[in-house]
Amino acid sequence: MHSAAANSGVPAQSPAEALTPLYADRVRVYPRAVRGPVRRAKWMILTLCLAVYYLAPWLRWDRGPGEPHQALLLDMANRRGYFFAVEIWPQEVYYLAGLMILAAIALFFVTSLFGRLWCGYACPQTVWTDLFLWAERLLEGDRAVRMQRDRSAWTLGKLARKVTKHAIWLVIAALTGGAWVMYFYDAPTLVYDLITLNPTPGALFFIGLFTATTYLLAGWAREQVCTYMCPWPRFQSAMVDRNTLTVMYREWRGEPRGKIGKGKLLEPRGDCIDCRSCVAVCPTGIDIRDGLQLPCIGCGLCIDACNQVMHRIGRPTDLIAFTSQAMRESKGTTVRDFTGAVRTALLRPRTIVYSAILLLGAVGMLWTLLSRSTYDLTVLADRAPLFVRLSDGSLRNAYTVKILNKSAHERDFALSVTGMPGTTMTIVEQEGRSVDARDGVTLPVKPDSVGTFRMLLHAPGGAVRGGVPLEVVAHPLDGGERAVTHATEFHGPAG
Ligand code: SF4
Ligand code: SF4
Repeated sequence: MHSAAANSGVPAQSPAEALTPLYADRVRVYPRAVRGPVRRAKWMILTLCLAVYYLAPWLRWDRGPGEPHQALLLDMANRRGYFFAVEIWPQEVYYLAGLMILAAIALFFVTSLFGRLWCGYACPQTVWTDLFLWAERLLEGDRAVRMQRDRSAWTLGKLARKVTKHAIWLVIAALTGGAWVMYFYDAPTLVYDLITLNPTPGALFFIGLFTATTYLLAGWAREQVCTYMCPWPRFQSAMVDRNTLTVMYREWRGEPRGKIGKGKLLEPRGDCIDCRSCVAVCPTGIDIRDGLQLPCIGCGLCIDACNQVMHRIGRPTDLIAFTSQAMRESKGTTVRDFTGAVRTALLRPRTIVYSAILLLGAVGMLWTLLSRSTYDLTVLADRAPLFVRLSDGSLRNAYTVKILNKSAHERDFALSVTGMPGTTMTIVEQEGRSVDARDGVTLPVKPDSVGTFRMLLHAPGGAVRGGVPLEVVAHPLDGGERAVTHATEFHGPAG
């Protein structure tokens, strides 16, 4: 009998293969605590990241009366972003987009140099998981005790520990959610609102949302976020090559691995004694000796673990180390080899391109930020009708003029029109007084606001056919800044 699979050339599945489940239960990871220079560096970076995150909304910045005094604030209600002395208007949101693009390129640059340095040290998922793990160890002990406790029957003591652990996790998560909302809301006001049980529904919703996500992602999901949810490991492989420095096992030194016998390694065995310390401390539960793997976040804790073992058995350290594929192939281990590898890693076409883009982007953004105008002009021509013919035969076009005054004081702006001699201008808000459009009018605009005006332009009949290009020009009368122009058209009957 011929099956459809056989006919189609697809190998037929055995009944056992056909029944292979597509779902596998999670194998819980119990990372063991470890000491060493890498762990110390991780603690320092974790403390710095958390301090910046929780304290930054409390930094004050005096912007004068009526303005928010929070140094870092995204004021969604008033559609304004504050970054110390810089104020970003909705029209300038491209600065935020530019900042994000620069941050992405910086991440590409760091990844091409040092692999998943961001993932292992500064990613919020790593930082908060580490913090939650610290609380877990404090209450439930280290790996072996936790594993044993989780296998044992429920007792009052076990229940009390679990409840306390989750309560601490929830407190950390709530502080995290609260701090996040403070970047969008004045921090002292939010705390006062919460203490007086009077927070806005929006603030409450987002605190709840970020409390829940922090608790679930750092407390429950942990390494699964890095392994299954995060897209970054999937495409970061495009940024690394044989010169990228990352955490690797030096199999040429470690293999053939084998258990140590009576305190001694038996020659010609490699240095790895198969103690699995590197696996026990790994926050994602993998074995670095299996080679480069997607769940490896490059945290380097396995380096500390293995170095402790190497010290104990009297073998050279750095069986697992920050190294590159090239250095691994050349079996280099000395400091000189390492600095040579760093130099090679730095001077590669991809890192040079990334750093050039970063530098140009940063300089360009800084230049536009420093030279940006404190006012802006937009002109919108009426579309329906495009023009009106008046009883004396002249043509009239109407426009909405918006002058944005970003300064903290009221300013007078001169508004005029060039490109159409003989045209008169009327500003509806100025009681219909007509002036020569080239001479223009003076328009006051309140501080930190947009002045909106209706501008009518009149041209003698018969002089205009189709669309005539013209420029609306505005400049502040207090001087100091170049005029801003906006190109538009005056419309008449089709030619
Ligand atoms: S294998 Fe090593 S570097 Fe990779 S995640 Fe585990 S402990 Fe960190
Ligand atoms: S910690 Fe070092 S010696 Fe122990 S299994 Fe890992 S690589 Fe081998």
